[in-house]
Amino acid sequence: MRKLSVGILGATGTVGQRLIQLLEGHPWFETAVVAASDNSAGKKYGDAARWLLETPIPEKIRNLTVQACSPGMACDFALSGLPSNVARETELELAKSGMPVISNAGSHRMEPDVPLLIPEVNPDHLEAVATQKRRIGGKGFIVTNPNCSTIGLVFPMAAIDRAFGLEAVHVVTMQALSGAGYPGVASMDIIDNVVPSIEGEERKLETEPLKILGKWVDQKFKDAAIRISALTHRVNVRDGHLEAVSVKLHASASARNVEEAMRNFTSPIDELGLPSAPRPVMILESHAQRPQPRLDRDRGKGMAVVVGPVAPCSVLDFKFRLLSHNTIRGAAGAAILNAELLHRKGML
Ligand code: NAP
Repeated sequence: MRKLSVGILGATGTVGQRLIQLLEGHPWFETAVVAASDNSAGKKYGDAARWLLETPIPEKIRNLTVQACSPGMACDFALSGLPSNVARETELELAKSGMPVISNAGSHRMEPDVPLLIPEVNPDHLEAVATQKRRIGGKGFIVTNPNCSTIGLVFPMAAIDRAFGLEAVHVVTMQALSGAGYPGVASMDIIDNVVPSIEGEERKLETEPLKILGKWVDQKFKDAAIRISALTHRVNVRDGHLEAVSVKLHASASARNVEEAMRNFTSPIDELGLPSAPRPVMILESHAQRPQPRLDRDRGKGMAVVVGPVAPCSVLDFKFRLLSHNTIRGAAGAAILNAELLHRKGML
């Protein structure tokens, strides 16, 4: 089978580097184009990128010349790690030129015909692409993955909602430094410190899960009826977002029932054999001091969500913690999994 060629937008950044790392040796896709800002365009990738991952830059990529993010890139589809303010225009322009764009950026996530996709949770939302293509006018389209703190939260929410009905969620995040890109938070702000309120992040946590857990009906997304309240914090951890969650259910259940619902979570894509899909996608830990970023972020090659023990909550019904790798499950790995689903469905 011919591998599909991928263009990476924002290839020199935190997410772009992860995309390059995760695509090395991918059975279906290969990186053919690296694109970034005018500061990097024209340089060899190895000179333009300040590479921050433990594995070396793949040799083939090191020597590629960085291109501008503009139509005409020689690839089958694009994976985007562009800043949101850049992604708004650039991704739309590429989609209008006929390119499928699979994006990590926030700018198109909440648009009324753009899927906010988690393959294990809402693969049926890809139906919106046909409507979107009519709007854009051509073969190109945009599919997005959620914010890096949303994605971990949605898995337990989906399992609980499916089993008991979910009424309300309160979440407090402890988010890693790599989530802010490079150079990110100034060292003088974060050493010996925790910085509350990550800009825009609480709104994303309070709205994105409702679209993901909602339905595509009559050519529209209908949000799930769940109330969410979020408080976000940047902590001095390199990778891995930890979240403390309390939930209120519609039906009565025990803490063990809630754990079982998460453990038994099955996904509509289980049978598709997508190379990046972790099995299981949710790992339940029984020790009260798990999950921890350093110990648990690489579970399922960084694609699994690790959930700690579920306990009764005296304010809502139950409480637990979860952890997900923000640049893999929360960004690059999620986008690649989205591309795998699109490819399986013949949409690339
Ligand atoms: P980053 O490290 O700051 O990287 C930004 C990338 O975009 C760089 O390659 C940069 O190229 C390029 N770029 C900047 N301005 C540009 C322009 N005007 N035209 C073309 N390219 C431009 O950011 P990041 O953390 O990778 O985040 C990328 C996106 O993913 C953001 O939308 C972010 O919200 C989202 N996201 C990030 C995470 C995470 O954990 N980091 C998780 C989920 C989603 P140069 O090197 O040439 O400047």
